[in-house]
Amino acid sequence: MTEKLQWAGEKFMREVEARSGARVSSCLQCHKCSSGCPIGPETDLLSSQAMRMIHLGMEEELLGSRGIWLCASCQTCSARCPMGIDVAGVMDVLRMMAVERKAALPDKARGRHFHRSFLGSVRRHGRVFELEMMAIYKLRSMDLFRDMDKAPKLMKKSKLPLLPNRSRSAGEVRKVFRNARKEEER
Ligand code: SF4
Ligand code: SF4
Repeated sequence: MTEKLQWAGEKFMREVEARSGARVSSCLQCHKCSSGCPIGPETDLLSSQAMRMIHLGMEEELLGSRGIWLCASCQTCSARCPMGIDVAGVMDVLRMMAVERKAALPDKARGRHFHRSFLGSVRRHGRVFELEMMAIYKLRSMDLFRDMDKAPKLMKKSKLPLLPNRSRSAGEVRKVFRNARKEEER
């Protein structure tokens, strides 16, 4: 009987597949996902590169990358993938794994702080309240003064309101967070 071919990274890839429900192994490396990614020009990790790194079992490099925290979970990549891979879901799983394995090194923790501050604000108001999110992020990261000069300009353009614009679906959004928490605790 022929022995099944295995490679060093298979265990990592199978874990990502099992947790995300996405068939990462069927990725064709067509780059359709990353060519539509809004954070593509800013990130050090394109979604198609992340897929390839999963194939290769580059667990440490991937979970320690800044790019998994810059992903805005906008789902564009999942919608564009010709193989129906939920790429955004895979990025979510990578972030979870990074937290569990404490791969986020101190200099990369800023992305994690940003992510937590963003989600916390969405959970409270049903949509992001930028001023609050920025204040909490700055306190968490102790990155207090960077970009502060941009605040007056943003306020002048009404991009940084002083009060939250609460969503009418805030209750529903909170329910999503509660369900996600329950799922995690299972
Ligand atoms: S979900 Fe993340 S990786 Fe996918 S297109 Fe949006 S920002 Fe890019
Ligand atoms: S669009 Fe899909 S198949 Fe193409 S590189 Fe991205 S994940 Fe792979």
